[in-house]
Amino acid sequence: MGFGLLNKVILVYEEAFWEPNRDMFGLLNEAERQASLNPEDYASRRGRYYLFWNCLVTSGKPTLIALMAGEAAHYTEETSNDQLIKEVTDCLDQMFAPNRVPLPTETIVTRWSKDPFACGSYSYVGPETQTGDYDVMARPHGPLHFTGEATCGTHPATVHGAYLSGLRAAAEVVEKMIGPIRVPTPLVEKKVKLEHPTPHPPTISDVKRKFSSDAPLQSSGSTASNNSIHKTARAVRDEDYEASIIGEILSQLGERPIKPGRTGVNPFLLYTKDQWYTVKHDCDAKRRAATGDVNAKASKTEIRTALGLKWRTEDPAVRQPYLDQTQSAKDDAAASTAGFKDAVALWDREAERIRVEYIRDHPPEDGEGDMVMNGRTAIELGAGKRPRR
Ligand SMILES: Cc1cc2nc3c(=O)[nH]c(=O)nc-3n(C[C@H](O)[C@H](O)[C@H](O)COP(=O)(O)OP(=O)(O)OC[C@H]3O[C@@H](n4cnc5c(N)ncnc54)[C@H](O)[C@@H]3O)c2cc1C
Repeated sequence: MGFGLLNKVILVYEEAFWEPNRDMFGLLNEAERQASLNPEDYASRRGRYYLFWNCLVTSGKPTLIALMAGEAAHYTEETSNDQLIKEVTDCLDQMFAPNRVPLPTETIVTRWSKDPFACGSYSYVGPETQTGDYDVMARPHGPLHFTGEATCGTHPATVHGAYLSGLRAAAEVVEKMIGPIRVPTPLVEKKVKLEHPTPHPPTISDVKRKFSSDAPLQSSGSTASNNSIHKTARAVRDEDYEASIIGEILSQLGERPIKPGRTGVNPFLLYTKDQWYTVKHDCDAKRRAATGDVNAKASKTEIRTALGLKWRTEDPAVRQPYLDQTQSAKDDAAASTAGFKDAVALWDREAERIRVEYIRDHPPEDGEGDMVMNGRTAIELGAGKRPRR
């Protein structure tokens, strides 16, 4: 399990320059190498101001909260407020061009990693996380009980997870002090008569046992119920065993290679991205002049047509970088596709070998090795395929 970092840049303005009724808007950052297909080229910028929350209604002030995730969260810790404000203002300027975005009147920047009482933001499921790690964090040690979002496997990293963990720990403490708490069954009386009432109402310990171990429910009596709990425990054990095989495969081989997609890049698209607002500005001006309406705006079709003409008649020196970028993206894609087939065949063979060796070295408790030996999971069957566009 990991302890992660998310930071926020909070910006208060004189007045809202964004759509006041929109809860949030996003920003897709460019890679360090433009139009790159390599995810690593996006790592340092992907999380910078990638989402803006509009807090106008909730705070009563024209406020935006920009999120800083991944590497950008760590970058926030090391970067001055002035630099961050300049960067975020440049990003907003581009998004709202041709309008100019003013500087904020007040700002707050969080640096949770530097906060000695927080040391970070919240837990996350890391590559090494195992099934049940959150439950391990929640286990009491003698009279010491643990709460907090990182002890709540169902709702980690959230306020409601922290709250639920508090309820769980409080119940544990009370049970330890005064014994099992009787939970009425049903909790809320039904108006209809129960045909098979439970002989003894279950306690909180019973309910917890049902979810946490193989032990059958002691007090609820019915055989059918016991069977179903045995079945659940068995299914959980199988899943855990399967998860440990997959864990071994992934730790040795990493993820199964994903089929590379088409580049989706062409020179005109790249040019359009850079020129859109300039051309829009000119088209709007022409439309205003033609109609005499100061608020007139050009349609998207008009702007696209003007862009097409501009691209076709553009100076070759201006066109060349766009042609080069497209060719470079195509070359990258061709190289990835060539290697993909061999890489995936090798991965499959190795996964099969690791599975067989794992089962040989750690046979399952109930001797179902043959079933598992012949089975392949979704990961090994190529569930990691790139979704169709
Ligand atoms: C930027 C950010 C955005 C988030 N957004 C959301 C969201 O949108 N929705 C959501 O549900 N959750 C969100 N969360 C997560 C949520 O805030 C946490 O999961 C939750 O607050 C965790 O509660 P906790 O009680 O486990 O821990 P904390 O709230 O961290 O409480 C731990 C307390 O222990 C204190 N402490 C630390 N060391 C000591 C010590 N030695 N002695 C005494 N006291 C100590 C700390 O000061 C702190 O008050 C967000 C968190 C962050 C950082």
